[in-house]
Amino acid sequence: AHDIQIIGGGLAGSEAAWQLAQRGYKVRLSEMRGSGEMTAAHQTDGLAELVCSNSFRSDDSDKNAVGLLHDEMRRLDSIVMRAGEIARVPAGSAMAVDRDVFSAEVQRTLEEHPNVTVVRERVDTLPSSGPTIVSTGPLTAQSLAESIVGATGQDRLAFFDAIAPIVHRDSIDMSVCWIQSRWNKRTEASNEEGDYINCPMTKDQYLAFHQGLMDGEKTEFREWEANTPYFDGCMPIEVMASRGVDTLRFGPMKPVGLDNPHDATPEFPQGRWPHAVVQLRQDNKLGTLWNMVGFQTKLKYGAQVELFRTIPGLQNAEFARLGGLHRNTFINSPLVLDRQLRLRGAEHIRFAGQITGCEGYVESSAVGLMAGIMAAAEMGGREFTPPPRTTAFGALLSHITGDAEAETFQPMNVNFGLFPPLHDVKKKQRKEAYTSRAKAEFGEWLAASEPVPA
Ligand code: FAD
Repeated sequence: AHDIQIIGGGLAGSEAAWQLAQRGYKVRLSEMRGSGEMTAAHQTDGLAELVCSNSFRSDDSDKNAVGLLHDEMRRLDSIVMRAGEIARVPAGSAMAVDRDVFSAEVQRTLEEHPNVTVVRERVDTLPSSGPTIVSTGPLTAQSLAESIVGATGQDRLAFFDAIAPIVHRDSIDMSVCWIQSRWNKRTEASNEEGDYINCPMTKDQYLAFHQGLMDGEKTEFREWEANTPYFDGCMPIEVMASRGVDTLRFGPMKPVGLDNPHDATPEFPQGRWPHAVVQLRQDNKLGTLWNMVGFQTKLKYGAQVELFRTIPGLQNAEFARLGGLHRNTFINSPLVLDRQLRLRGAEHIRFAGQITGCEGYVESSAVGLMAGIMAAAEMGGREFTPPPRTTAFGALLSHITGDAEAETFQPMNVNFGLFPPLHDVKKKQRKEAYTSRAKAEFGEWLAASEPVPA
């Protein structure tokens, strides 16, 4: 017997299960992978698998909205942040993890928890009664997606993003490339010499590469997918290239702050900035796999290999994974959910994770965390007050549960644009002003809330 069922053992479902179990509730965590089912992006049966990048993005809680969300999650004893710390790999000021160590740690912790039962099963219909959290993610199985459409009365939306290739480290030619973080920025987790492998390009090489992106054969969209918009943070590199010949040089191929030591002169003993740079970031703890930063693409596999091997230093690159397309399923949360993430008209069901229209590993986990705490409060017969809008949690939750425009609702990363504005503060100081206000008000909210279970 269980107190609550959670459908989907991804990032959001794992976090919700942990929060509920820690508060003494018996959880049935239903995950279809491991029962002979798979999604188009997952590769393992592990709980909380990271399907693409290995980064939780900025860990700077003073200047960055997602870094602030990390901080708030840690204060609520997030399992994703706990496991992330254990699996951490060097990534400048970002928080990146070894995906296998991370997933194994989340799974071990939940499987060992006396209040969690992980069941490998696919759920095809929304339960008609009993507390439930649906956290089946952007690749929700078709049958359940249809059941959700039936219950919400709203058509679900679907669009396609693209993912970036991963390269084997030992196939990268380091006599051409070099290791350095932009402006030599680093954190405690950083490698001594820097966190990025940089591939330099001359102007001619860059122009030829740009042309190659424009000409390369792309995966065809089916007609009904053709008008689906890209989410900005995941725009395919060839789409960015089509916006102008220099767009990439101001985006993922930006050369500033990167001194190529192979081009050192007496005048520039550190080396010179190239015309453009392709950066790779460590993808696993061993340091054997590196992903091409910002190189999500819908080029066909053959075209990717051919074109990416024209990048200096990658002429012999071996790819552990090529870029590709993915589906993204999400509900129109501002219309169909209440402020407590409950489905209007079927309040025993909560939604959590990317399916609510937040975007990203961290945001999905955060909404899972909140759904878990909200469900626990409700089962305990307590009134739950969500964190104020001035906090990262509050800003994100307010957005998806009512403040966003339902008509144009699109998946959203946490960002300062979701926070109540601070017009009086000078632009230069604004980020710090948002985060210091958030930290103070989150602290007050926490002090007035149920204690976080140890
Ligand atoms: P998931 O982690 O996908 O978990 C959902 C779980 O539900 C899965 O384990 C699935 O097997 C299970 N499931 C589905 N249907 C059923 C069912 N009917 N019954 C039982 N179980 C079911 N975010 C980033 O921050 N960085 C990235 O680089 C990034 N890349 C992405 C690449 C791809 C291809 C995709 C699809 C998404 C990407 N995202 C990325 C977005 C998002 O952050 C992740 O998808 C994240 O995993 C969402 O967390 P979640 O818990 O909501 O869903």
